[in-house]
Amino acid sequence: MKEVRFINDDGYVLIKRDGKLLREHRLVYEREVGPIPAGWHIHHVNEDTADNRIENLEALPWPLHKRRHCGHVMREGVWWKTCTSCGVHQPESEFPTKKIQGGVRYTRGNCIECERERQRVKTAKRKATLNASRS
Ligand SMILES: [Zn+2]
Ligand SMILES: [Zn+2]
Repeated sequence: MKEVRFINDDGYVLIKRDGKLLREHRLVYEREVGPIPAGWHIHHVNEDTADNRIENLEALPWPLHKRRHCGHVMREGVWWKTCTSCGVHQPESEFPTKKIQGGVRYTRGNCIECERERQRVKTAKRKATLNASRS
């Protein structure tokens, strides 16, 4: 059996085995823990995608995995995240809904306050343009 181990452009370790490309972190997890449920991802706890020691790997359902990468933290059963505009860390309920898919509510990067401010600025700009074109 011929095996080649290399790191791809995204920083993940891949194994080429008998012409097949395999992701090393999934192989390690399945060897040490067991099968990964369908739709689950393997998260690298220290964010180093080339660090495939078992203690660095954590299996997560994908919506959870996505949240983890957006800086979300779970506090007393509620997801918290940081607003990309004001940088304030607050519960997810303080963010406007972007879309709901598969029972998961996706929120915007801006909190409700910042989104309101953004809309206000946008409206003010539009008004200013209108006034300018009138004169
Ligand atoms: Zn991850
Ligand atoms: Zn904000």
